[in-house]
Amino acid sequence: MRYDVVVVGAGTAGLVTALILAEQGKKVALVEKRGYLGGRAMEHRYRGHQIGLGSHLVEDPGDSLTRVCELVGITLTHSDRSDSMPFWDRDHWKPIQELYSGAAKQGLKRCIQALTETDYAEFDKLDHLPLREWMAQYTSDEGVYTVWEAISILEQITDKWYDHSASENLYVRKMHYDLKRTAGYSFWPMGGWEKLWKEMGDALVARGGELRLSSTVRRVLVEDGSVVGVRLRDPERPGSDDGETLEADAVVVNAPVWNLPGLFDDGVLPANLLQRVRMLANNRNRACWLGYWIAAKEPVIAMSEREMASFKATPRTGLGGFTLNFTGYDPGVSPPGEYLTCVGAAFDAAEHYGDKEWLDRKFHEFWLDIEEMLPAARGALWTKKHLVTTYGVVNKPGLVGAVRPDTQVREIDGLFLTGDTVRSRGIGIDKAARSGITSAEAVLGRRHPFFANTVRY
Ligand SMILES: Cc1cc2nc3c(=O)[nH]c(=O)nc-3n(C[C@H](O)[C@H](O)[C@H](O)COP(=O)(O)OP(=O)(O)OC[C@H]3O[C@@H](n4cnc5c(N)ncnc54)[C@H](O)[C@@H]3O)c2cc1C
Repeated sequence: MRYDVVVVGAGTAGLVTALILAEQGKKVALVEKRGYLGGRAMEHRYRGHQIGLGSHLVEDPGDSLTRVCELVGITLTHSDRSDSMPFWDRDHWKPIQELYSGAAKQGLKRCIQALTETDYAEFDKLDHLPLREWMAQYTSDEGVYTVWEAISILEQITDKWYDHSASENLYVRKMHYDLKRTAGYSFWPMGGWEKLWKEMGDALVARGGELRLSSTVRRVLVEDGSVVGVRLRDPERPGSDDGETLEADAVVVNAPVWNLPGLFDDGVLPANLLQRVRMLANNRNRACWLGYWIAAKEPVIAMSEREMASFKATPRTGLGGFTLNFTGYDPGVSPPGEYLTCVGAAFDAAEHYGDKEWLDRKFHEFWLDIEEMLPAARGALWTKKHLVTTYGVVNKPGLVGAVRPDTQVREIDGLFLTGDTVRSRGIGIDKAARSGITSAEAVLGRRHPFFANTVRY
C-alpha cells in the first residue's frame, strides 16, 4: 500500500497530525500498536467510573486541541473551570489567595507584567533557569512564589516544586493570561476522553484516512537518506521482518523518546539526535508519581467540589502533589451518588525509580496522610493505588527546549517527530496537541491558516 504519510502512534499528537493532514487532502495511515486511541491519555472504566488514566484535565486555553476539533466539526465542551485553589499549609487547608496580601500583591503584579511583556521566543533563554530564579527578579515574597509553584505542582510537570523550568512554566502562564486572563486554565472534556478520541478517529476515517489499531510498526524504512515507509510487525512471527510494508513519502513518529531508537536500524538516526533521545529517555528523567483513586458516597475534597487543591509536602511522605474530584467537573464520570477523586504526589525518579521498598512505604504513609488531609476518604467505597512512571520527561531546567528532538529530522528526508517528548512547550496533552499541529505543518511545508494565530514553539 502507498500513502502520502504514515503516522506511527495514535496518541494525542499522532491523532492531531493525522487528522490535519487528512483534512488537507493527504492520503494518511495512522498505525497504533494498542487496540485503543489516545495513547497515554487513554480513558479507563473501573467499577462504573470513567477514569481519565493519563488524562485528568487539559491546559488548553482554546487554541490547540479545541481548535483541532473546531477544524473538523467536533464539539469539545470544556467543563467549568475550578472554583477554588486550596493549599495545604502544614496542618490545614487554606485558600491560596491567603498566602499573599498587602505589599506582596505588588510583587505578583510585577511578575504578571513582566510575563505579558516578554515575547514567547524569549523563553528559550530561560531553559536552564528554575522558575523561582526568574520570579526573584520581581519579588522576594514567599507567598507569591508559592502561588505559581502550587500551580506547577498541579500541572505535574516535575517532581520538586522548587525545580521547575522557568521557560516551560512561563510559557504556559503567559498563554493562559493572554487567552483566558488567568494564571492557570484547565478543563475536563465533557463526556470524557474516550468519546473525544473516538470522535477524532472517526473524523480521520471520514476524511479518507486509514486507522490501523493493534498494528505495531517494527521499523521505519530509510533508504539513501530518505524515508520510504514502515514495516509492520507480523503478528504470527513478531521477531521476523515478514510484516506488511506501508510505502510512504513521509513518516511522522509519535512514539515517545523511550520507544524511538528501537524503530530504526542501527546507524540510521543521526548521532546527535540519538544522544539527546537517550539522555531524555533515561529513567532518571521520568516524571513519576504515586497516588490513589478513591470512590466514595460523599465528595473527597479539601474545600469545594470543583477545586484544584495542592500541597508542597504531606505530613508523612513529605511529597508534593494534588487532589482532584472528577465528579465535581463532570457528574457523568461516576455512577449516581458516587464521587471519584484522584490524589497524587510526585517523586524523584533519579532517587527512587524502581525502589519497591521505598514505594511500598510511601504508599502506606500517603494513605495515612490522605485520611488526615481529606477525612471523607475514610469512608471510601473502594480505593485503587496507582504508580505513574510514564507521564513524560520531567520539565526540569536543562531538560526542556532546544535539548529536545526537533520536529523535522533534517538529515533524513521525509522523517518527522511529534509528541510531548519532542521540542514543544506546554503541559501533557496540550503540549502533545501543539506538537501535532506543528508536525502537520512541517509535513505540509507551510502554515495552516486555521492555526495561524495559535501559540507554538
Ligand atoms: C497517569 C498519567 C496521568 C496524566 N495526566 C495528565 C493530565 O491530567 N493532563 C495532561 O495534560 N497530561 C497528563 N498526562 C500526560 C499525557 O497523557 C501525555 O503528555 C500525552 O498523552 C502524550 O501524548 P503523545 O501523543 O505525545 O504520546 P503518547 O500518548 O505516548 O502516544 C504515543 C503512541 O504511540 C504508540 N506507539 C508507540 N510505539 C509504536 C509502534 N512501534 N507502533 C505503533 N504505535 C506505537 C503508543 O501506543 C501510543 O499510543 C498524564 C500521563 C499519565 C501517564
